[in-house]
Amino acid sequence: MSDISKQNGLTLRYIDIGANLTDPMFRGFYHGKQSHDDDFSEVLERAAELGVKQMLVTGSNLAESKHAYEISKAHQHKLYSTVGVHPCHAMDIETSEDPDAYLVELEKMALDGKKSGIVKAFGEIGLDYARLNYAPADIQCKYFIKQLDIAEKLDLPLFLHSRDCAEDFETILFPRLALLKRGGVVHSFTGTIEEMESLVAKGLYIGINGCSLKTEENLEVVKRIPLEKILLETDAPWCEIRPSHASHKFLKNANLKISLPQAVKKEKFVMGNMVRGRCEPCAISQVATVIAAVKQIPIEEICEIAWKNSIALFHFDEVSI
Ligand SMILES: [Zn+2]
Repeated sequence: MSDISKQNGLTLRYIDIGANLTDPMFRGFYHGKQSHDDDFSEVLERAAELGVKQMLVTGSNLAESKHAYEISKAHQHKLYSTVGVHPCHAMDIETSEDPDAYLVELEKMALDGKKSGIVKAFGEIGLDYARLNYAPADIQCKYFIKQLDIAEKLDLPLFLHSRDCAEDFETILFPRLALLKRGGVVHSFTGTIEEMESLVAKGLYIGINGCSLKTEENLEVVKRIPLEKILLETDAPWCEIRPSHASHKFLKNANLKISLPQAVKKEKFVMGNMVRGRCEPCAISQVATVIAAVKQIPIEEICEIAWKNSIALFHFDEVSI
């Protein structure tokens, strides 16, 4: 195997704080149809080669949180998981046979998982007003509040999702933060400078992935995020950096060249390829490259500070480099 963890002769290390590794795309399934062989272990291997030492596998409802836990349990000290119901899955609770029992089970899963050392955050929870087709705003708010009630009993940091909803998000969350001592991260951040500053003022971390780097406005926000509050993620298989994004120009800079395996159309896939349109944790190196360029600091500095921030928030086990 080639050693691709070296960029500019540096060995860099990463923690991907948002990887949706339960997604069927990592098993070759797209829209319910198998398009190529299961390459889940290759995806993990590629990530490790590029210096991704640990990842947080996100849960989006009860079943997916269990799935995330199981995947993480099979790769202890490398993968950790979250437990929670994503705002786009709020209807899973609402339409379940017994919503209260659903929430009780969620709390139990979080507590048991925390005891086992695998569950390191409560989430994804939050609001997503860009996708109201999955769950109306009132239902999203209802279960954001109910899950924050649970969070107060857990002593876990929050893994928060917030999209086009800043006012309601802050109104619901901010008064509760005094009781949520472990704080949290607003992942996949795409909001304004003012929104970022108000989250940071409350002690929250900001998670940056390819979606957070799409426009020049996004890049302006990233420039201003205090280093001690920044976390790196991919949100794989989503949020890849595309040629149309404002961030893409920084990847072409010869001084910051990153060699990722070739990405091909899923129909042309052979083992060892990446798949076009399917982001992978190894692409976190691109996120770090763009942030370093935007903030005009060495890439090793952003990697190290994001590493320290991740450990401080999630209490992952220390691993050797
Ligand atoms: Zn999210």
